[in-house]
Amino acid sequence: MAKTPQKPLKAETRLIVAGRDPQSQFGFVNPPVYHASTVLYPTAEDQVAHRSRYQYGRRGTPTTEALEAALCDMEGANCAGAVLVPSGLAAISTALMAVAGSGDHILITDSVYRPTRNFCEGVFKRMGVEATYYDPLIGADIGRLFKPNTKVVFVEAPGSQSFEMQDIPAIAKVAHDKGAVVLMDNTWATPLYFKAFDKGVDMSIQAGTKYIGGHSDIMFGCVTANARTFPALKETHGLMGLCVGPDDMFLALRGLRTMAVRLKQHQEAGLKVARWLAARPEVARVMHPALESDPGHTIWKRDFTGASGLFSLELKPMNEKAVYAFMNALQLFGMGFSWGGFESLVIIFDCNEYRTATKWAPSGPTLRFHIGLEDPDDLIADLDDGFKAMAGTL
Ligand SMILES: *Cc1c(COP(=O)(O)O)cnc(C)c1O
Repeated sequence: MAKTPQKPLKAETRLIVAGRDPQSQFGFVNPPVYHASTVLYPTAEDQVAHRSRYQYGRRGTPTTEALEAALCDMEGANCAGAVLVPSGLAAISTALMAVAGSGDHILITDSVYRPTRNFCEGVFKRMGVEATYYDPLIGADIGRLFKPNTKVVFVEAPGSQSFEMQDIPAIAKVAHDKGAVVLMDNTWATPLYFKAFDKGVDMSIQAGTKYIGGHSDIMFGCVTANARTFPALKETHGLMGLCVGPDDMFLALRGLRTMAVRLKQHQEAGLKVARWLAARPEVARVMHPALESDPGHTIWKRDFTGASGLFSLELKPMNEKAVYAFMNALQLFGMGFSWGGFESLVIIFDCNEYRTATKWAPSGPTLRFHIGLEDPDDLIADLDDGFKAMAGTL
């Protein structure tokens, strides 16, 4: 049902046309939202032979196919298919379950999204899958961590909360030489700013809850895969009974259409605010790979084509009271988890709660910001008010 024009188009244009075929649905611009479980067969013969374009709601509807097609299209030519799941974390667990099992060993970056680690230490450990965490800056040196049973290398760049960049092509080369597959959590850059399959990744994961949804109103996740890994992904996804509610698929598809323009704005405003923050006397350093001063900038420039609106900073040494005064004085920044919506957010975090392979030793408290679609000058003025409140406590 989903048909894409067969001519070269830029990514922004592809997002508009992918997964749509208006003439197959009475000319309506958007694919219909099928609320569905049972699919009826016209005859007993058809039912016995399972002869039908669709089998059952869980196995996919035209709405599912439209969203899968649009997501795969966003990845470029090397994408073999996509699966949809009810959250970003479900995308991570599904992708891992598709390629690792009892007796296998996997390598995971120490900068991974914390619930990914919790899945490995909980479900995977119980299943007999052993995880080793590695320094995100390891590069081609990752070869020394391989065991005969290493099946997977999991990368995430920039790192969750701490924003280390990883040399993904170098890591992927070693992994492939040793017969392992590379899984990536690509939620930060999205396929618009990092073409995972062109850089050696075999399965790419997005928390669609973030920039695909874009409005802080859905939980959604997806995994796209290349030809090498898609059959295993599709099989595991089907066996586990995963599917997404039709209205959330509709919102994800709607979010996709505006994702390129939203990301451009998140990037531009994010950099403006990050630069302003980097120049503040209260700030020790800003962790944002698109800043020239960032240690990961060279890799970012080589491999990525853009940045989103999420970054962190390290404050100079100060007590909690000063940080809380800053945060409590902000009126345009909500304090809450998740990100990728139209609104700005701030949280305080501490990587020491979970890191095991690397040392996290900031000089002062650390904050993570999501820069939303507000005018960045208003955000800067709000942050300035926060610093005034901070000064009042020092
Ligand atoms: C939020 C997030 C996830 C998980 O997404 P949910 O939809 O909240 O389950 C995974 N990876 C990264 C990097 C995230 O920020």
